[in-house]
Amino acid sequence: MSIKKYETDAYTTNFVGEILTCNKVESGYAVTLKETYFYPEGGGQPSDKGFVGNAVVLDVREKNEQILHILDRAVAVGDHLDCTIDWENRFDLMQNHSGEHILSGIICKQYNCNNVGFHMGTEKILIDFDAKIEEADIAKLEAKANEAIWTNTPILVTYPNQEELAEIDYRSKIEIDGQVRIVQAGEYDCCACCGTHVVSAGEIGVIKIIGIQSYKGGTRLEIVCGKRALLHYDKKNRSADEAGRMLSVSGEKVAGAVTNLLAEKDDLIQKLSKTKYDYFKLLAKTIPEGVENVAILGDGFAGKDLTNLADILVETTGGRAFVMSPTAEGFAFVLISKHQDANDYMADLKTMFSGKGGGKKEAVQGKLAGKSKDILAYWREKGFCIIN
Ligand SMILES: [Zn+2]
Repeated sequence: MSIKKYETDAYTTNFVGEILTCNKVESGYAVTLKETYFYPEGGGQPSDKGFVGNAVVLDVREKNEQILHILDRAVAVGDHLDCTIDWENRFDLMQNHSGEHILSGIICKQYNCNNVGFHMGTEKILIDFDAKIEEADIAKLEAKANEAIWTNTPILVTYPNQEELAEIDYRSKIEIDGQVRIVQAGEYDCCACCGTHVVSAGEIGVIKIIGIQSYKGGTRLEIVCGKRALLHYDKKNRSADEAGRMLSVSGEKVAGAVTNLLAEKDDLIQKLSKTKYDYFKLLAKTIPEGVENVAILGDGFAGKDLTNLADILVETTGGRAFVMSPTAEGFAFVLISKHQDANDYMADLKTMFSGKGGGKKEAVQGKLAGKSKDILAYWREKGFCIIN
């Protein structure tokens, strides 16, 4: 049985480890130490990283009360080697795990619910609750959690006996046999946990909720704490400032400026569509007297423009209108016919211009390949008047 020194001391990062066993395994070498400060993956917290001598610690797992350090190379049994824990990684996990406890404690109390899922990802922490958390409550919950930081609430690890434990109201995801390890963050939280925690909440720095969504009938929160929260803020701040510079406003006013921009865009779209309609009407007026069928090569018309123009043309002529416009691959087209024979032309278009598409007898649309002059020549041959 390995002696788990990290349970009572989360701050020692350099120690001399006595190698008890070293066995080749699939992912490297599984090594046990007489005493270890390396935290094995568990309770939602990822394992520590670092070195045992010159060997890289790839993973740390707990199996049958043994802490297995998975190393990238073999080490000699009986050796006493300098061990180093990657403190930046460990402290990040401590800040986020302790932050998660405080926020979960507050939420579970307020909503009388349970924390039913906890995952510490490399970017954010996911916490699942079996209750609907109101989005309107987020700011208050966040402020309450950060109050624990501002008052530098002590975070205590204790090992109560069965009698003492019976008197404690603590959160726990699972039934625990044997000694229970209690992590208490003042009035904010009391939870059974095997993870490594900061000793005072001030070290967490900040607790920030960055996402909320409905999840399996309850709620999933995404949070970041400590340095992660600072980096997250920095990323968002830079992005807002960059957008602000483009819109000539400060970063805080980006949303308002974008709302105005979208309103301007909608207004322009409406004006453009009115201008197009007027232009299509003018085009229809250029059709010579007595012409029933027309074909036109437009430029820069989107799908709806083709249909709108073709509609206006057949309203004027009472016959057929073929409208096409260049696309990246060839041409988009629409053929509208008051004679209800639009589909009759599809066979020719498929054979001669690799036509794709179709539709009803009064209207077909699709794509064509080939040269515009050849396509227009086809319609001229069919008795259509080409208008420009
Ligand atoms: Zn925990």
